[in-house]
Amino acid sequence: MSDVGLYVHVPFCSIKCGYCDFYSIVPVASDIEPLVDALCRELAQCLKAGNIRVETIFVGGGTPTFLTGALLEKLFAPLGALARAHGVTEFTVEANPGSLNEDTLQILRAAEVDRISMGAQSFDVGELKTLERSHRPEQIATGVERIRRAGFAHLNLDLIFGIPGQTPHSWRHSLNQAITLEPDHLACYGLTYEPGTPMHARRDQGSVEPVPEKQEARFYTTAVETLTRAGYVQYEISNFARPGGLCRHNLRYWHNLPTLGVGPAAVSYLEGCRRRNVPDVASYVRAIQTGTSPTVEQECLSSLQRAGETAMLMLRTVEGIDREHFREATGFDPNALFAQAIHDHASQGLLTADDRRIALTDKGRLLADGILSDFVVPAPH
Ligand code: SF4
Repeated sequence: MSDVGLYVHVPFCSIKCGYCDFYSIVPVASDIEPLVDALCRELAQCLKAGNIRVETIFVGGGTPTFLTGALLEKLFAPLGALARAHGVTEFTVEANPGSLNEDTLQILRAAEVDRISMGAQSFDVGELKTLERSHRPEQIATGVERIRRAGFAHLNLDLIFGIPGQTPHSWRHSLNQAITLEPDHLACYGLTYEPGTPMHARRDQGSVEPVPEKQEARFYTTAVETLTRAGYVQYEISNFARPGGLCRHNLRYWHNLPTLGVGPAAVSYLEGCRRRNVPDVASYVRAIQTGTSPTVEQECLSSLQRAGETAMLMLRTVEGIDREHFREATGFDPNALFAQAIHDHASQGLLTADDRRIALTDKGRLLADGILSDFVVPAPH
């Protein structure tokens, strides 16, 4: 019996934000129910086929709370039954501030959902407009108030820094507004310009000007300092929590533990193999309806590749690579695989390595992408 984190992808949004490269669409009405049916069917098939115990559930997207009423109940009734039967330790649903009404929240609570992750992104009306988000700043507090009234134990707010036009003042304002709402978890991500997105094209055309790298680094440092002062503990490059607020589902991911992904574009990682479902609602629904596999990509990793990924993911956490834990999980000694990378980055003050663990320093977290890529492919063993 293996423990998994279950991820369910609901690929619908009311509008498509200009920076977004997640697989999501603005659906027509006839797309919605067949997709919900297909999700329920794929979930039932996976649970029947696999000898698994679900430890955490995360329903993301897209915007899961785009679904309402009977269709939301249809999806969450089996998830709630699963949560009860498996005794899941955390059940998160992503939501947008504009999509949270009392009926929706009641349906989620009845299904054992105990954590809402809200895409607040910014408390500045101009920045939300630049991101092409559909909500207004005041809807964030209204949403949080409804979440509290409905009795959810945990709340995350996502914020974005490095938005074109953002200033140190407006970023501090967003951080402070978020803190005032007292979520037990905050995630702060730098804006990225993903190829193929309208935001990327606007940057190339010169109609938006990216925040200079040094300024972006200062925004990040401001977030770490401000949130630390407010009682949040940084436990991953972008994630901060108050006591009891760590996201268990994401911690599973950073420890490279098995994941079962359900839905279009969802990724599973089971028994060392990664497989991805087709990123297209119509093709996904057709595959499930006709009993064929929705998988379009599959890769089984060698034990060395798994060790490289595990190291790279664990280094994202502030705790870093626990040498003993790493040896147990992968069968390799981190020194044997990464001696050169550890030496190079430690000598520049970007990571620390002692008998117990290897971890990025504060300075290293600012330059994480460049460092982590040196751990993906271990030295030949
Ligand atoms: S709401 Fe989220 S998933 Fe949907 S388009 Fe915007 S960023 Fe992407």
